Amino acid sequence: MSKFYKHSDEYSHRIIRENVGTQIRKIRVWRKRLSAALEWSSVDKGLILLTMILPIYGQYLLWSFYVLSRHDREKLVNVALTTETMKIEVGFIIVGVLILFFGLYLRRTKPNSLIFQHVALHFFSLTLVAMSYTIGTVSFCAGLVLLGAPVFGFILLDRQAVWGATITALAVLLGLSYATAYGLLPYAPIMVTPTDHISNLFWMNSVFFFAAPFFIPIILMADQMLMWWREREEKIRHMSRTDALTGIHNRMSILGILDHEVARAERSKSSLSFVILDLDHFKKVNDVWGHPMGDLVLKTAAKVLKHNIREIDALGRYGGEEFVIVLPGADHIEAQKIIERCRIKLSEAEIFSDNNTLIKVTASFGLVSVNGHTVESHALIKTADEALYLAKHSGRNRIETTIFEAV
Ligand code: GH3
Ligand code: MG
Ligand code: MG
Repeated sequence: MSKFYKHSDEYSHRIIRENVGTQIRKIRVWRKRLSAALEWSSVDKGLILLTMILPIYGQYLLWSFYVLSRHDREKLVNVALTTETMKIEVGFIIVGVLILFFGLYLRRTKPNSLIFQHVALHFFSLTLVAMSYTIGTVSFCAGLVLLGAPVFGFILLDRQAVWGATITALAVLLGLSYATAYGLLPYAPIMVTPTDHISNLFWMNSVFFFAAPFFIPIILMADQMLMWWREREEKIRHMSRTDALTGIHNRMSILGILDHEVARAERSKSSLSFVILDLDHFKKVNDVWGHPMGDLVLKTAAKVLKHNIREIDALGRYGGEEFVIVLPGADHIEAQKIIERCRIKLSEAEIFSDNNTLIKVTASFGLVSVNGHTVESHALIKTADEALYLAKHSGRNRIETTIFEAV
């Protein structure tokens, strides 16, 4: 009986783990989609803005309902104006929905049209300026939107459209502020100046309530964008160092590693070995079995070499069918052991052509080892290249070694 329970427990734990795993994967997919918003079409980006702002007017409408339902409403807001503001908010929602439909239409016909971003941004900024006027232009909310929205906008949207809407909104905001300062318009017309701690608390909470829909998405999206940027940068960095065919270091990257290791060996007076290897009669592989088969041979060679060098060794593609290996800390005896293993494993590798014929591959190796001597990278390369040349001319599928004795 207890065994049965144990099993069913394990079973349900496994189900829970699998479900949680699926949910996490789904969230990751959505996060990727959202943070890749930088690559969305121009109209889609404008649509994000609208879908963000429309619920906010719904939220403000709810706030108006709430405050008007309070028995102490007279003490908190100008009741007549709050009622008027609700009509304006409904008007904003209707206009916003119409613009949204316009966007959905453009999405299919002209997805890269910039006009929509101009329209959506002007709607966004001007309606918000109007709303911020009702609670006071010089407020936490206005400051937050004024600073946060353009910064966020510059990352995601077209620069010109953001500049256009920001300048218009700023001009209107300044106009309204000075008009109130000169007494041409009332300041914060729907607000009744707080007289006790209840109304003070009410307005403080209200300001946080108005600010939250900007504050939270701006921070969340900035975090997502930066995460996406970091991932993309890492990908580009990896691509710039990797050989596209074989997945090992490319020439630039492996030569960088060689420079680094040469400097380190010199500093620490330790051994360093370096190998250039070239596949034998590789042109024949291409000629007989075709270029794609040649590519497969190159990939296999890279894999075999990678498997037979040490963890700390670095393997790169020097060009065509030439590879190089940097062996930090390895003197000629150790390097020879490693490279001999590579040579044998490579000659034993079994690669089959499309018609199942076995393609055999061998390579010739030029090895150079230095032990506590000062040697420049280019001298190492030149010496290894000469050793390789000798290996080719001495019958191929062999290693020629030079122990570098520099002064
Ligand atoms: P050896 O033993 O003297 O080195 O003879 P080899 O035929 O290997 O030397 P050669 O330099 O004459 O030929 C190298 C060939 O490698 C020529 C070129 O078409 C081929 N090659 C270079 N890069 C690639 C590649 O990325 N893919 C494929 N499939 N072939 C390549
Ligand atoms: Mg060659
Ligand atoms: Mg060759």
